[in-house]
Amino acid sequence: MTKIKYLTTLCLLLTLAAAAQSVTFTVSMENPAAHYFRVVMQCRGLTGKTQDLKMPVWTPGYYQRLDFAHHVDSFSVTDGKARPLAWEKNGDNTWRVHSNGAAALTISYIIKTKRPFVATPYLDETRGYISPAGVFLHPADKLQQPVQVVVKPFAAWKNVATGLDTVAGKPYTYTAPNYDVLYDSPLLIGNLEELPAFTVSGIPHRFIAYNPGDFDKAKFMNDLKKIVEAGSAIIGHIPYRQYVFIAIGPGAGGIEHANSTTISFNGSGLSSPKERLRLLNFIAHEYFHHYNVKRIRPIELGPFDYDHGSKTKMLWVSEGLTVYYEYLILRRAGISTEEDLFSNIRSNTMAFETKTGKLYQTLAEASYETWRDGPFGRTGDSVVKTISYYDKGPVVGMLFDFAIRHATKNQRSLDDVMRQLYREFYQQKQRGFTEQELRTVIENTAGTKLDELFDYIYTTKEINYQKYLGYAGLTMDADFKITRMQNPDALQASILESWLGE
Ligand SMILES: [Zn+2]
Repeated sequence: MTKIKYLTTLCLLLTLAAAAQSVTFTVSMENPAAHYFRVVMQCRGLTGKTQDLKMPVWTPGYYQRLDFAHHVDSFSVTDGKARPLAWEKNGDNTWRVHSNGAAALTISYIIKTKRPFVATPYLDETRGYISPAGVFLHPADKLQQPVQVVVKPFAAWKNVATGLDTVAGKPYTYTAPNYDVLYDSPLLIGNLEELPAFTVSGIPHRFIAYNPGDFDKAKFMNDLKKIVEAGSAIIGHIPYRQYVFIAIGPGAGGIEHANSTTISFNGSGLSSPKERLRLLNFIAHEYFHHYNVKRIRPIELGPFDYDHGSKTKMLWVSEGLTVYYEYLILRRAGISTEEDLFSNIRSNTMAFETKTGKLYQTLAEASYETWRDGPFGRTGDSVVKTISYYDKGPVVGMLFDFAIRHATKNQRSLDDVMRQLYREFYQQKQRGFTEQELRTVIENTAGTKLDELFDYIYTTKEINYQKYLGYAGLTMDADFKITRMQNPDALQASILESWLGE
């Protein structure tokens, strides 16, 4: 055997060994009233004396430690011949298995669940919710391997809702090309109701719910279609093959994913016009996140650090601008009015301007410290010293939008920034952007420096609302109420008109 031939053979063997590595999970729920999932994880193609298995400490989209490992119980491991193997906890979220060269392992454990919430797994007599980062272990440093999941629903249940790909001919069987996709793909299990699906650009969009309540479902799906059309028109490209809205039942909050979102949902509120707008704003927000944060993203937010969390100073973009765009999407979809849009911006402005936190914490710091302070700022201090990027973020986003429109004689807007970030970083470079790269894209789009606006991100400088609102022919009174100016010039009028989507 020549050296080259030997190396080729060695490479081939190594490739085969890597390809033979696989993980299959079987998740069952025989006794839903006991509130735990039973998980069996089968690993094949292993080498080495020990294997470290890990559970993420958080789930992307919810920037708080949830320490999922604390809910793992009844852990046991056997080798390929069903012989028990020794193991030990080797860190807060790590199990070290003494596999002694065994190529196959079967790991069994249960996941105890407590309360229904979008970021955590839950099981009771009515449905099961698999928030995947809280259910599936991964072999340390092997997040790139493909994973198969077999769900065994409780005997009385028929449906599973998920964005994961199915396996033809195998019921309740799903695949993910790697753990990042798996951890981004929740599953809802029960007797679920699917509302009539719609397509946008030929791509199916489904809405599957646990106990959605009684409401005009055709009207609701029509609203949802308009939201998807208006949201996807901002970027001009739809990157997924299917999208699933997964409604997990009453509660608060949602989490975005690349081709799905899980939302707390109670349809009976839709009969009130105010509640309908709130709910559609919320859904538009989660939907637009499949662009802004899942694909248009800060460099720190992927690949994720599942052991420690991923800190970024740019959640004012990922969250703040998503709030701003939820307002614009509803307006452009013809669902909300000009007054609704003004009043949404006003409530964010008030929430930010009427608290002392604005004097202490910058928008960049609020983003970075969210792991310590919580998503809406810290509570319990005698003086409020924190702010929320959900409040200041959309307001500053609007000011950037007006500044770009003004500087380019209304030829460009914040939409061009989002499209450029999508093209350059998601499609071409396939990575996130740095703070400097974001600034370059924004200032290149505007064709000018925007130092004052970046001061609103990195300092606590007082915001000059009148200057930027004036670019769009708007003004703000002492009570933060936004109204149109009396006699706007031609540029102001055209900026306002295109901003309002008219
Ligand atoms: Zn969000």
